[in-house]
Amino acid sequence: MDQTDVAGDIADILLTEEQIGAKLDELAAQIDRDYEGKDLLLVGVLKGAVMVMADLSRRLHTKAEMDWMAVSSYGSGTKSSGVVRILKDLDTDLTGRNVLIVEDIIDSGLTLSWLVANLRSRGPASVEIAAALRKPEAAKVDVEVKYVGFEIPNEFVVGYGLDYAERYRNLPFVATLAPHVYS
Ligand code: 5GP
Ligand code: MG
Ligand code: MG
Repeated sequence: MDQTDVAGDIADILLTEEQIGAKLDELAAQIDRDYEGKDLLLVGVLKGAVMVMADLSRRLHTKAEMDWMAVSSYGSGTKSSGVVRILKDLDTDLTGRNVLIVEDIIDSGLTLSWLVANLRSRGPASVEIAAALRKPEAAKVDVEVKYVGFEIPNEFVVGYGLDYAERYRNLPFVATLAPHVYS
């Protein structure tokens, strides 16, 4: 294996591209039913949500616009604190809009809970959340996630938009990393 090949860095594949695709078919059908006759504004949270935004939005029949936000949450290393700074704000006025936040993963849920409150303060008709993945910790936070792809165990995962030190986002599946990657 040469050093530029990622295959040697993967420990386990938790979710294959096929499994993710099948789940997004279900979520898109559900979203189409729920937003029938309404127009939708999809809000992706950079950078992790890029894959799920692309794959979910392409499956929708509902008219949808797309906008993006980038936020940074202050915290000690891998734990987020819930203190959030907006790095890139939306271009879109949310007044009267039906907003669907599209997220890669919900762990502590602190970032998301801040984001929901922030977007709700801008006068939208509704704000809901769709997340590809959710970890058990998220149950402790008081934010209702209407559309969830997969509940995953409390392990650090990469791929499908999720990074370790900005790497592995482009993997089409969700996986854990081999120990040698961290050392
Ligand atoms: P929280 O829900 O704790 O506020 O933070 C969620 C963010 O933490 C996600 O958007 C993601 O950037 C990062 N995160 C949480 N769990 C994981 C994980 O297992 N792998 C990766 N790569 N990022 C994670
Ligand atoms: Mg995210
Ligand atoms: Mg990250």
